[in-house]
Amino acid sequence: MVNIDLEHIYKEYDDGDDYAVMDFNLHVKDKEFIVFVGPSGCGKSTTLRMIAGLEDITKGELKINDKIMNDVAPKDRDIAMVFQNYALYPHMTVFDNMAFGLKLRKYAKDDIKKRVDYAANILGLTEFLERKPADLSGGQRQRVALGRAIVRDAPIFLMDEPLSNLDAKLRVSMRSEIAKLHQRLNTTTIYVTHDQIEAMTMADRVVVMSVGKIQQIGTPAEVYDNP
Ligand code: ADP
Ligand code: ADP
Repeated sequence: MVNIDLEHIYKEYDDGDDYAVMDFNLHVKDKEFIVFVGPSGCGKSTTLRMIAGLEDITKGELKINDKIMNDVAPKDRDIAMVFQNYALYPHMTVFDNMAFGLKLRKYAKDDIKKRVDYAANILGLTEFLERKPADLSGGQRQRVALGRAIVRDAPIFLMDEPLSNLDAKLRVSMRSEIAKLHQRLNTTTIYVTHDQIEAMTMADRVVVMSVGKIQQIGTPAEVYDNP
């Protein structure tokens, strides 16, 4: 079971005199697929990065399963994250890219192989494991980035605009792949996008943001179908 609570979360950057995120309140339920949606610069990424521990929280409390997480290091949060730019290592093979975080955490060699093979199988990457990122298509690179998160087998999955570097057609097919992946992995997921259609089609609940604040929280029907 996973519960995530964001309670009166604020983020002020060192160089700023304004808050990037203001009074953000959200209770994420176990296995929920939450989408943060809103225009560029409204604070989606910053909020996600605070959940991952990649940004400090200026004010407020982040709780995971009722434990206050504000000061817990990223590596000690049981969270997997997928970034917009994929952040793949160009000189490493697909296998090594997916294995990297596990090696860092000193997983046993045969366990690493088992996890990478499992993720590669789910993502259709089995025959590409020895290739370098430059020799893959955009969609395949995107899958490697997903694979790197899947191998962690973390109960919480965070995704920051994972599809925005793909062409329109691929974006549509990856949308349903990610939705299926969510079903299969049974994770609690928070997904950031500026694309309303992604929010509408993928989310259990949508969090609509605008200039650092939550405007609305609801199911896609509640948020988008009201007159
Ligand atoms: P979004 O993900 O919705 O595009 P961000 O969370 O990236 O928005 O940014 C929210 C606001 O915080 C923006 O005004 C952005 O310029 C600012 N911001 C983001 N990251 C930093 C940073 N590292 N330092 C200073 N300001 C930042
Ligand atoms: P994104 O699409 O993720 O919002 P950006 O180009 O806005 O990408 O940000 C790229 C990186 O720069 C991120 O790590 C973000 O936190 C940081 N950043 C964004 N806005 C600012 C800013 N105003 N000042 C300093 N760093 C920023």
